[in-house]
Amino acid sequence: MHSLTKTALSFNGIGRRCVALNRFSETRIICRGLTCTAEHGEHEHELYDVIISGGGMVGTAMACSLGLDPNLEGKKILLLEAGNKKVMDKVPDAYSTRVSSISPGSATLLSGVGAWDHIMNMRCKPYQKMQVWDACSDALITFDKENLQDEMAYIVENNIIVAALTKQLENLSDQVRVQYKSKVVKYTWPKSHQVADAIPWVQVTLANGQILQTKLLIGADGPNSMVRREAGIPTVTWNYDQSAVVAVLHLSEPTENNVAWQRFLPTGPIAMLPLSDTESSLVWSTSHRHAEELLQLDEESFVDSINTAFWSNENHSELVETAGSLFRTALSVLMPSAGSARQLPPSVAGIGPKSRIMFPLGMGHASEYIRHRVALIGDAAHRVHPLAGQGANLGFGDVACLTQLLSQAAFNGKDLGAMQHLLEYETERQRHNLPMMAAIDLMKRLYSTNAAPMVVLRTFGLQATNTLPAMKVSMLSPL
Ligand SMILES: Cc1cc2nc3c(=O)[nH]c(=O)nc-3n(C[C@H](O)[C@H](O)[C@H](O)COP(=O)(O)OP(=O)(O)OC[C@H]3O[C@@H](n4cnc5c(N)ncnc54)[C@H](O)[C@@H]3O)c2cc1C
Repeated sequence: MHSLTKTALSFNGIGRRCVALNRFSETRIICRGLTCTAEHGEHEHELYDVIISGGGMVGTAMACSLGLDPNLEGKKILLLEAGNKKVMDKVPDAYSTRVSSISPGSATLLSGVGAWDHIMNMRCKPYQKMQVWDACSDALITFDKENLQDEMAYIVENNIIVAALTKQLENLSDQVRVQYKSKVVKYTWPKSHQVADAIPWVQVTLANGQILQTKLLIGADGPNSMVRREAGIPTVTWNYDQSAVVAVLHLSEPTENNVAWQRFLPTGPIAMLPLSDTESSLVWSTSHRHAEELLQLDEESFVDSINTAFWSNENHSELVETAGSLFRTALSVLMPSAGSARQLPPSVAGIGPKSRIMFPLGMGHASEYIRHRVALIGDAAHRVHPLAGQGANLGFGDVACLTQLLSQAAFNGKDLGAMQHLLEYETERQRHNLPMMAAIDLMKRLYSTNAAPMVVLRTFGLQATNTLPAMKVSMLSPL
């Protein structure tokens, strides 16, 4: 009954039987106690056109995007989220430790669903330059606005992204229903019509016993996706030998702070992402043991470790220095004006309250993103190392692609759960995501060593790439 809160109800008395008429009912729904029955069909539970399971950044964006699509008007769309509703009446003074670098393509998607204005009104830091360099040599690569047409990217706290999307969903309450604190505990898949009492839809059972049905289930339930697991979709996964330590950093002095810094240490990359003139966000990927040690350090020692990680040259070797310097000289003869100068990162003076958390890192890829009446998006389909800041961006790309194909299918009067357009979604996204994932994994491996031949090889690669603006632009994927 709680799933019909926004419906017009008329009670006809006997046995508390009620009739609900609204756009969330196929035609007419009769409720007895907690069970809803589609009167005109043989199915026992409320039927939706689309159920999105998981209301993280990606699932909530999907709900907004579908709710706004004119071709999907009149469709019954439901978002289910196990956690609480994430609203933000007032932006907290302290920054959150969980942030994402949001690409211009993702910003366009978030703008298209009406959430970007909310984000800008809350808190967001654009940056114009990125410097990536090797701790084992002098090799570096920079990306800056001169190579690009717009802002390079934006650092946004994850809870601000979700709060902005949630606010926008409130404006779409006629198009999308949302149920928080609604954990899915079981999925039952459609069976062939030859089987007795087969249901043609996906059946979704919630922890509170409520049972729903949908013509299309979108799994946006994160890296340990239950949708993926229960659908039996084969997945390639491996754990990296690293955890990421995240924290909010106070800089020693105010700066323009419009550069994202990342240094590759032999133990993993350390990144400092701008939040404001005086604060930055730390993402330090390192061995599990070192991550645990970092969490145990007192604040002063932790800050010293960060500054040393960005500034120390203890991993440099003479052989690599000589080879790198010769190669740099050769490049400067061939391309005298190419390349850009090294800048020094700001030094860190302290950390924010409630700072320092660690996450084990891994990679995962579902070999299929779809099944009959099922599609996976976001981390449910693919999980990457944070070194390239691409996980959520890939998910927003899934949202844009799936919305466009479902919109087209609805326009042509097609069944939303049919394989034809879902296959197009899978092909298009895998074609985009797989090369990106392979490149991220290769980077992780290439930089996880201080063996001289490998360091020389990557030093040459980084220096050569730094001299080629066209190549650098192509490395910044739109979505
Ligand atoms: C340290 C770190 C730094 C990162 N930095 C960046 C970055 O700079 N840029 C970037 O693009 N990406 C970054 N990422 C990746 C990014 O955080 C993820 O890709 C993104 O959060 C995935 O979002 P999602 O919505 O797909 O999944 P999730 O955030 O995992 O959300 C899944 C949701 O599903 C819900 N759920 C799960 N099971 C159920 C169920 N049974 N029933 C109902 N609801 C359920 C959960 O409650 C949750 O809300 C980073 C990741 C890490 C670890």
